[in-house]
Amino acid sequence: MEMKCPEIKDALGNREFCVWYQPQVDMQTGEIAGAEALVRWNRPGRGMVLPGEFIPELERHGLMPLLDQEVLRIVCEDMREAKQAGISFGPVSVNLSKFYAAHYRPVCGEKKEELRFEITETDRGLGGERELREFADRLREMGFRIAMDDYGMGSSTLKMLHQIPFDILKLDRYFVSRIGEEKGETILRSTIAMARELGMEIVAEGVERRAQVCFLLEQGCRLAQGYYYSEPLRKEAYFSIRKQGQKLPGAKP
Ligand code: C2E
Ligand code: CA
Ligand code: CA
Repeated sequence: MEMKCPEIKDALGNREFCVWYQPQVDMQTGEIAGAEALVRWNRPGRGMVLPGEFIPELERHGLMPLLDQEVLRIVCEDMREAKQAGISFGPVSVNLSKFYAAHYRPVCGEKKEELRFEITETDRGLGGERELREFADRLREMGFRIAMDDYGMGSSTLKMLHQIPFDILKLDRYFVSRIGEEKGETILRSTIAMARELGMEIVAEGVERRAQVCFLLEQGCRLAQGYYYSEPLRKEAYFSIRKQGQKLPGAKP
């Protein structure tokens, strides 16, 4: 996509970014257990742009800390709005790039139990291992729960899992899409067993089919995110399903 640095920088200044929410669902009951915050760029004259198209540009220009901060600001604002309207909002997971580590500033008014942070090792962040560990410790000391995103896709996933006290493991959708294949299922079964033994909460990403729901539930993984339940929703639509206390179709309704 042709795009110049000043334009994306202006987009931050002009508050052209917004956040969509993808529900996380308890597959056993169909109840909504929270959401992941996913950024979108409402580019003037072009419509909604997905992060895959603009994050590389922001990374190239060292602007990821500013984006993460902007997303956090929007999520906190939406959280306040939900609270005023008496709507359950969270817990909402916010993605943090490693770039953010050195710049993290606590946001006022955030409720610890309503916010979680997702950290991935697959981004091109520059943060070293020690820096990341210190950052994770800091977030946990502040009372936030942290999730390891895209589990299984990095080059040192197990080492990271060993060194950083993650509370939540997000199984990458690559492995979920392998359900139905013997090898893929073996890897998933043992990963879920390991995460459970480590006392971690597990969230399966990219759940699209009922057969995946059944397999995951059998293995003891209850939480999922994916098109089977819901695509990411605009704030208004997310508020609306939370307001109605709507259940999404569960495998065992
Ligand atoms: P991610 O953190 O792994 O987020 C999940 C992505 O998978 C989202 O794409 C979501 O729309 C998509 N997805 C959800 N369910 C399904 C499904 O059932 N099937 C398939 N095929 N895809 C599904 P999205 O919104 O385009 O975000 C892409 C990536 O951009 C995210 O991957 C994350 O790494 C990054 N990102 C998004 N928002 C933020 C943000 O606010 N800050 C940072 N630092 N990164 C962000
Ligand atoms: Ca994520
Ligand atoms: Ca992910």
